Amino acid sequence: MRRLLLLLLSLTLAAALTAPAWARICPKCGRNHLPDLPKEQPKPQQPPKEDAAGEDKSKEAEAAQQEEPAVTLSVARARFFAPSVEVADEADRILDRLEERYGKPRVWHAFPIYYKRYKGDGVAGYTLYSQPEVKEVVIFETFSDSVGATLDHELTHAFFFYFLNSNFDLFLNEGLAQNSEYRRRESLRQTVYRRYSAEQFWELDKLYGRNRYDGSLLIYHQGFSVVDFLIGRGGSLYFAAFMTQLVRTNDFDGCLRSFYGYKDIKELQAAWHAYIETGQNRATLPAVR
Ligand SMILES: [Zn+2]
Repeated sequence: MRRLLLLLLSLTLAAALTAPAWARICPKCGRNHLPDLPKEQPKPQQPPKEDAAGEDKSKEAEAAQQEEPAVTLSVARARFFAPSVEVADEADRILDRLEERYGKPRVWHAFPIYYKRYKGDGVAGYTLYSQPEVKEVVIFETFSDSVGATLDHELTHAFFFYFLNSNFDLFLNEGLAQNSEYRRRESLRQTVYRRYSAEQFWELDKLYGRNRYDGSLLIYHQGFSVVDFLIGRGGSLYFAAFMTQLVRTNDFDGCLRSFYGYKDIKELQAAWHAYIETGQNRATLPAVR
């Protein structure tokens, strides 16, 4: 059985603000092989794809791992290996906060956290996993830049991989990770409003279940905002329960109905649009009952 490696990425804010320039560049790796390009000729030697989200990722992951020599991680903690006490202390704080917010994962395998030199390709970090464990978290920012931003983002991916024991929908996955970037939350809300007003957003049913990155970061911006909205309605623990049920049943409409009272994704979209139009203020949202 082919080992399936999956890669989740976060992009620099600079890349997010210059989205049109990335229209033909893969947000996963900065290379020019966007999934939206016309279909390549099928390669007969390749085994069938197991999961759209895993597309091309084994090669990328191997390349990413081979590009730089191994770094010694001197600090071992229960949940990870880190290059310094400073990084380890911050990672522990972030993971403690995630546990407090969403609940405690039942299983956990420690993984390495690397800091590497930024490659200039817009990729700020990635999380690589292959069942049953997270293989590595890599950050391409300085430590101080990554706190409240990319380190929180990538550790959120790692956390939810264990919490849900699953590689779940990419739209919600990136939305959750973006919500952990507390230093960027307000600028993200401004980006959401600007892009919504400019009518750049897609219908939600084109993003949920797509499991591929798009060329203009909609999966990040809309994912952030929808998760922000749903957490605003019922809180983080409630959202974690919703996600757990969703992964168990794979019934998005059914889970929306039983947790949030929307009959389907269209009804969610209408309520979420109203949230954007009225200022994205969680405090004004009606609580779920
Ligand atoms: Zn991500």
